Amino acid sequence: MSTLATLERPVDTARLRGFVTAFADLLAATRDERAILDSGRALLSRLIATDDWLPEDYARPNPDRYQQYLLHCDSRERFSVVSFVWGPGQSTPIHDHSVWGLVGVLRGAERVERFRRLPNGTLVDDGEEWLREGEVDAVSPRIGDIHRVTNGLTDRPSISIHVYGANIGAVERATYAPDGTPKTFISGYANRVIPNLWDRSKQP
Ligand code: FE
Repeated sequence: MSTLATLERPVDTARLRGFVTAFADLLAATRDERAILDSGRALLSRLIATDDWLPEDYARPNPDRYQQYLLHCDSRERFSVVSFVWGPGQSTPIHDHSVWGLVGVLRGAERVERFRRLPNGTLVDDGEEWLREGEVDAVSPRIGDIHRVTNGLTDRPSISIHVYGANIGAVERATYAPDGTPKTFISGYANRVIPNLWDRSKQP
């Protein structure tokens, strides 16, 4: 951690702690994917409505590639929370997820290009959507989970907060060439330490 990091403004860890606690409650109450995506969308919308809680170390772009920082992983690996940080012009490859996921834009804007894969393996364009600050998108194998995400801003980083129904950095999934040829990958995470949400000595 840089010296600069110690001078950074303190962030409200209670907000993210409350979010992961509420999400664990949700998953304890239901395993139905529709219910998880509906209620989870509301929880994520509330989390990203205020931009005062993401520590700087997990909001930092890398000029070489987009960053995927683990913020929290459930102890049963039922869900993980990740910040994605895109520098200007950065983009993911076309990829799938193999589990449900929610994507909410905290800062900036993102362009989402959706694809469907036909039984013969061909990828078909399935439309495009722009996500702006405060908006949430959902993916899953049931509703469609192949997409490419690009920073919608050319002059600034964009940041989105993602929740997935697994420890997503450890999940074997696939990227796709434009002709539909899949390539297996396991994403991992850009960070080696995660935010400390649990020091409650100064917060109730
Ligand atoms: Fe994705």
